[in-house]
Amino acid sequence: MSMPIAFNAHASRLGQPRPESMTDMTRPNLTIDPARLWSDLMETARFGGTPRGGIRRLALSEEDRQVRDWFRATCEGLGCTVTIDDVGTMFARRAGLDNSLPPIAIGSHLDTQPTGGRFDGVLGVLAGIEVLRTMVAAGYVTTAPIEVINWTNEEGSRFAPAMLASGVFAGVFTPDDALGRLDREGIAFGTALDSIGYRGAVTHRAHKLGAMFELHIEQGPILEAEDKTIGIVTGVQGARWHEVTVTGQDAHTGATPMHLRKDALLGAARVVAGLNALAARPEHSGTNASVGLLEVSPNSRNTVPGSVFFCVDLRHPLDARIDALEVDFRALLAEALTPLGLTWEEACIWSSPAVQFDSRLIDCVRHGAARHRLPTRELVSGAGHDAAYIARVAPTTMIFVPCAGGVSHNESESATLEDCGAGTQVLLEAVIDCDQRMNGV
Ligand SMILES: [Zn+2]
Repeated sequence: MSMPIAFNAHASRLGQPRPESMTDMTRPNLTIDPARLWSDLMETARFGGTPRGGIRRLALSEEDRQVRDWFRATCEGLGCTVTIDDVGTMFARRAGLDNSLPPIAIGSHLDTQPTGGRFDGVLGVLAGIEVLRTMVAAGYVTTAPIEVINWTNEEGSRFAPAMLASGVFAGVFTPDDALGRLDREGIAFGTALDSIGYRGAVTHRAHKLGAMFELHIEQGPILEAEDKTIGIVTGVQGARWHEVTVTGQDAHTGATPMHLRKDALLGAARVVAGLNALAARPEHSGTNASVGLLEVSPNSRNTVPGSVFFCVDLRHPLDARIDALEVDFRALLAEALTPLGLTWEEACIWSSPAVQFDSRLIDCVRHGAARHRLPTRELVSGAGHDAAYIARVAPTTMIFVPCAGGVSHNESESATLEDCGAGTQVLLEAVIDCDQRMNGV
């Protein structure tokens, strides 16, 4: 297999000089093995592998148990101690020189969507293992301990909502809240956890993290389109969901003249089109506004719809910009619906504040990429990740690598060995850099 990544040990001296030159000179030149990482990706893709080349590995399923067993055995084989918390999150810890320091974590998730791909989440966990392997092979020991973390139920496809266990770690949800969540068959999260033997002790998540890095595929098309290898992720955009019910009057389509109708679907359609136009205005540039769910009642060919329910999804990297769009959205409802004789109810039912990642950690990623002269681009994540919750309780950042066509949550999801390897090398550099900056040499 080809390895076109230029692992130039002297890149930092030839390229951007680093402010911590003393630190840099004492740093080992460790190089990850992209082929070994790839082999892990392909090996673990067997657990829940689908005929179309994807993975179906729902949280706390038998397939999840299999990959968890593999993760535990592999990390223990590298000398790690693996602990499991009360919501099933796995922490593989490699001792550092000073184990009183909070660990530097590398975390993501091993669960997938029902028709998921081989990289979403898995890459971030297996890259952590590759970082450990590289350090072990070189006999390199960090000052702080290193923890590779597999967060339970990131996808939220079996147990809603998403990012449940990292949310518990961050104090967003209580453990009981998570344990009581039901899947569509009525099986509780706690029951599923017990049935695969992965309920651990509360105390195992009682520790603080010194930092967390998450490597992930971009799940969007920007890096590929701009031919960049590394996405330096500065944050996660804010998201808000609104539910709207528009009420008019059911009426016969043949017997009711146009000017006497109260057509709820016509009103909803004007709102959908109006929202799209709002997002295109200069003052709302960079905003994503979408209607992805719409239910028409009574949904009959020859009845003017008397009621429509729809959901609005608003996103922007700055919460204040979502606030501004919300004001205009509410005005739009009145403008679109009142002239049609319609009434409406509207409520914001979910709000996820924008996240700004830690500038020191972002700098570690930037330096790691510069050290290997990899083309980079700064990005704000459009999707939610475990890192978004962990950022509330520990310095956190993310690294993105391109995925083909920006496609994810799809069995055809694809990323290259070279890009996965480059992202993992930058992850390794960033972890070492972070350890040295935070904990001295
Ligand atoms: Zn993911």
